[in-house]
Amino acid sequence: MDAIVQYDQLHLGFQISAFSLGITILLFTLIQKRTEKIQNKHFLFISLILMVCSLSDIVTALSDPRRFAEPAALAVSEASRTVYFIMHNVLSIVFYYYVQSVCNFYSSKRKIHNAISTAFAVLLEIPVLINPFAHLLFYYDDNMIYRRGVLMAPVMIIKFIYFGASIMILMRSWSALTSKRRAALGYFFLVIMAGITVQFFFINIKIEILAETIGLLGMMVAVEDEDEWIDYDLECYNRMAFRIDLLGFRVYSDNVLILGLHITNSENIIRIIGTGSADRVFTPVSKFLHTVVNNDHVYSISRGTFAVVISDASEEDVQEMISKIRIRFGIPFDVGGRKMLFNAVVSYAYMPERISNVSEACYMLDNPPHDTGKFIYKDEDLDYLLRRRALEKAVTVGLAKGSFEVHYQPTYDINGRIHGAEALVRMHDDELGDVFPDEFIPLAEELGIIGEIDDFVLATVCRFLNMSRPFGLKLDCINVNLSVIQCMETGFVDHINSIVEDSGIDKSLINFEITESVAASDYKLLGKVISDLRSYGYRFSMDDYGTGYSNMNAVIALDLDVIKIDKSILWAAEESELGYIILENNVRMIRQTKRKILVEGVETASQLELCRKLNVDYLQGYYFSRPIPEMIFTQKLGQA
Ligand code: C2E
Ligand code: CA
Ligand code: CA
Repeated sequence: MDAIVQYDQLHLGFQISAFSLGITILLFTLIQKRTEKIQNKHFLFISLILMVCSLSDIVTALSDPRRFAEPAALAVSEASRTVYFIMHNVLSIVFYYYVQSVCNFYSSKRKIHNAISTAFAVLLEIPVLINPFAHLLFYYDDNMIYRRGVLMAPVMIIKFIYFGASIMILMRSWSALTSKRRAALGYFFLVIMAGITVQFFFINIKIEILAETIGLLGMMVAVEDEDEWIDYDLECYNRMAFRIDLLGFRVYSDNVLILGLHITNSENIIRIIGTGSADRVFTPVSKFLHTVVNNDHVYSISRGTFAVVISDASEEDVQEMISKIRIRFGIPFDVGGRKMLFNAVVSYAYMPERISNVSEACYMLDNPPHDTGKFIYKDEDLDYLLRRRALEKAVTVGLAKGSFEVHYQPTYDINGRIHGAEALVRMHDDELGDVFPDEFIPLAEELGIIGEIDDFVLATVCRFLNMSRPFGLKLDCINVNLSVIQCMETGFVDHINSIVEDSGIDKSLINFEITESVAASDYKLLGKVISDLRSYGYRFSMDDYGTGYSNMNAVIALDLDVIKIDKSILWAAEESELGYIILENNVRMIRQTKRKILVEGVETASQLELCRKLNVDYLQGYYFSRPIPEMIFTQKLGQA
């Protein structure tokens, strides 16, 4: 008898813990207002079911017929167990649907699938409902001991199949889940499995519901918590959610529509209403979009750009949606009491038909086609995505395939003697032919491989300098472009050193170029990187001077050897009096700070004349030489 009491108390302890945990989960979910989506509704339902299960388990424990030898106790106990089984069966199917909605598995195309799975769940209730008469699921024996009936095993197997199917759906979406979600889901599935297994083998240790509630808590933490994916100002999902969801959508949908809505006068609107309230200007647009698409997949991609994602949408649905958008944008929006007309264009494409991956989708949304007066951009309008796809592939495999090469554009002193050269990367792809850096460098930056390309250029330059040493080539230095993205990374200085030191060349032979406009973002850190590198002996140039919006004082304050005046400034000086004044003043100002001056883009004799008049230090441009392959550059040096 003592053992019974002990088990009952243990049992009671488990169920009370499960119930309290269940209430906490329920309240927390309601307080956080995570109730809108289908997924949230399933989740709430699961927490309710688990609470009913633990409550009925509490009643079962309290009315144990072994302790109260009364018919009433037996009836109560049997009734509470029946409620338990009814609800626990419902749990299997609701959990299955929950996982489906989390993984975006649910779609209208799966009607049959869903009908079958629901029918099975209903079937599962029959043994429970007839149990009071048939006792096929469970019964109490003559000693009032609880026993499993003949149908218990099959019912459990079916429930297990649901659980297994849920895991399978989750597994297929595994690669589309964030690592945080994966870890949490993995852990909580284990807890649930452990609970079920223990209860299966030890009938008296009723830990199943507690384990399941802990699992639910895990879902709350790992899946339901979407704080970092929501743009609370705009009341929709953010860019990160877009990226993650799109991956998920691809697992279970044949065709995913990605529709971008671009507000083309967003800059002006923000200027008019003031940047202070910029974050919420487009909230009415987000709200409107939610009324047009009857799902929750509305995302804010960047300021003034929204995306809508729908799986398996038909072309008619899309057209209907777009016509609603067009009508709405013909009417002003209310921005803080002010009526304002938002100009918009729409672009859309299907994945995988036209868009092959998330990065391409982002590219379409970030680069809406240029103003042609059209409202809708689709199909051929988006051909630029194809070029980009080919380019992305070519750049990604470029280093391994040897598509990159370094060319040298000589730089000259004012007397026309070669002073050095700028190393400029070139790409030749078998399919695309020659591609120029203006096109592939920004892409390489986005793909995160600019560092490797810059390393390749630096290593090539070092090898070239090392190789030409015995020939006594008289070069002051070779200029190597640096991507600022990379400069800001920790360990950058050591990284550069390791490449240059490997080659054994003199560090002062390398002159790094950095662009002014990008430098504007963080002078302090950049200043430190520059002075660190200079302390090792490298030289530094400021590239494209005069094109950025940067603070001139801050630029000049950097520890630089050379300022490269941008070609546009030189060309403007030739065009107009005002242009000349700007160039002349810049030259004077830089000279006063004791920096050397290089003017790039010298194309004509008259431009050269102009530079001579201003007495700048170095020159670079097509007038002297275009960027040329290493061999030709070496020959040129030999003749010099
Ligand atoms: P940049 O650093 O301003 O390079 C100068 C660009 O001006 C080069 O274009 C060069 O060919 C061009 N140029 C030189 N003289 C003249 C001239 O007289 N007239 C005209 N119209 N153009 C002239 P390129 O090689 O196409 O490079 C474009 C940009 O790509 C570079 O601008 C630089 O920002 C980037 N880039 C090139 N190589 C590398 C590299 O190895 N690493 C990184 N991070 N960026 C690179
Ligand atoms: Ca440059
Ligand atoms: Ca330049």
